[in-house]
Amino acid sequence: MTEGDRATVFHRWQFWLAVFNLVVTIAYLGTILWGGVARRLSPAPPPPWWLHVAALAVVLSLGRRLLTLPLEWVRGYWFPRRFGLLHQPFGRWCWDRVKAGALGGALALLALELVYGLLRVSAWWWLWAALVLFGGSVLLTVVVPVWIVPLFYRLDPLEDQGLKERLLDLARRAGVTVIGVWVADQSRKSRTANAALTGLGGTRRILLFDTLLAEFPPEEIESVLAHELAHHVHGDVRRGLLVQGAVLLGTFWVAGRLLAMTNGRLGLEGPADPAGLPLFALILLLLGLVAAPLANGFSRRVERQADGFALAATKNPGAFIGAMERLARLNLAERRPSRLKEFFLYSHPSIDRRIEMARRMLSPSPLSSPPLGERAG
Ligand SMILES: [Zn+2]
Repeated sequence: MTEGDRATVFHRWQFWLAVFNLVVTIAYLGTILWGGVARRLSPAPPPPWWLHVAALAVVLSLGRRLLTLPLEWVRGYWFPRRFGLLHQPFGRWCWDRVKAGALGGALALLALELVYGLLRVSAWWWLWAALVLFGGSVLLTVVVPVWIVPLFYRLDPLEDQGLKERLLDLARRAGVTVIGVWVADQSRKSRTANAALTGLGGTRRILLFDTLLAEFPPEEIESVLAHELAHHVHGDVRRGLLVQGAVLLGTFWVAGRLLAMTNGRLGLEGPADPAGLPLFALILLLLGLVAAPLANGFSRRVERQADGFALAATKNPGAFIGAMERLARLNLAERRPSRLKEFFLYSHPSIDRRIEMARRMLSPSPLSSPPLGERAG
């Protein structure tokens, strides 16, 4: 099997396993909802609302976790290992999942308590909840690089003087103050390479996987740094938070309408009835599916702009293409997914499209550019 075939097989399986996981989750929530399970699980007389919400949320989410555990193992561990994308020992992989699950679960529970508390007192709950959660996500963005990422990676400041010089030079040419670069020890877990701009305000910094430093020549790393610097220059963390906030506001408003329309028919005492939790979860899940292509479309636009900036700043499309080729190989990327798949699921333009953009810079005349669809390397 060629590398391209392996990537196609890997992504086809990952996609269908994700779809299966989604179908199982919807069926699970639907069964609980129409079977009145949440009502039967609720003791009489009911406990205080916040305890009721917490107990139901914990029981229901643990139930789903148990149900989808084998799927998560196949998708997150067995397949990536089989395709050479993961070498983390099973125990450490489980520990990472436990930490992520506990953190995500605690934050989700906090958000749920807030929403149900507001649902009880105000018809404008969707507005207040979206505002408070927006504030929460801003705070979370600030602490991610200093509190959250270190739970999963060891972080060290970038030591390489040559790369630091290149970054300083890039920043000077872009007219911005240089920002810190930190290296995460991804090589303990996987061969996959990546970089990101994280944090906000004083915690804003570029994170690089050590796999990138080990596998990429300096001019290709410079391309990647230039792309991340572009996110900094364009204020993309801030833009992303605003879009996320707007999506949340829209989602809560529609969820409020749907909850008000359906709760009576399902024997609930009102939208704030904790027994309606599976209904609320189902509504949020379905609205999330609708919102995903919107958020991904915005993200692809931002990423294209960052690529354009990186190409203009480095004036080295060859290095950019080299970095893309290497990323594709290490990450076993799906180089050219269908337009539909890219539209719904991709937060970045596909690798082949990113390479085409750089090639157009190599050969500005449309007559001399290679035919669309031809693969580099
Ligand atoms: Zn990016």
